[in-house]
Amino acid sequence: MDNAQKPTKVSDDIVVSMDYTLTVNGEVVDSSHGRKPLEFIQGRGNIIRGLEQELYDMTTGESKQVSVAAKDGYGEVNPDAFLTILRNDFPEDIQIITGQQNQLGDQDGHVYNGIIEKIEGDNVHVNMNHPMAGKQLDFSITVVDLRLATPTELQHGHTH
Ligand code: ZN
Repeated sequence: MDNAQKPTKVSDDIVVSMDYTLTVNGEVVDSSHGRKPLEFIQGRGNIIRGLEQELYDMTTGESKQVSVAAKDGYGEVNPDAFLTILRNDFPEDIQIITGQQNQLGDQDGHVYNGIIEKIEGDNVHVNMNHPMAGKQLDFSITVVDLRLATPTELQHGHTH
């Protein structure tokens, strides 16, 4: 690719390489440090919306602290996503243990992730919310590199 075309600012359809550390309630829950930077196409919803919005116009080498409200992150906690399932309705190969995250399928073949929160006799209380739902996400980010996306990457909507 022609180096003269190397982008200097984050805009739509630019491939961003980004170092990040995600802190929730003061605790580091995820970080790219010690790994490769996260690479994604800007403007395609490859990363959470609240973070993507803050990236526009950032330049290579620039760092920023970004706090993303729950509604722009993994969503608010949905009260309808707390389910009570009978123990006998679980597939046999699933361990029914409090705190266990399980993939649960419905009759239509959809698969959901749920965390078993409480077991009362035959009733198993499952929280189907995303583990990060309802939480503010505090990101520390650095733009490591910017490049143009290839035509194939743009067509697929993700980096190769
Ligand atoms: Zn692809």
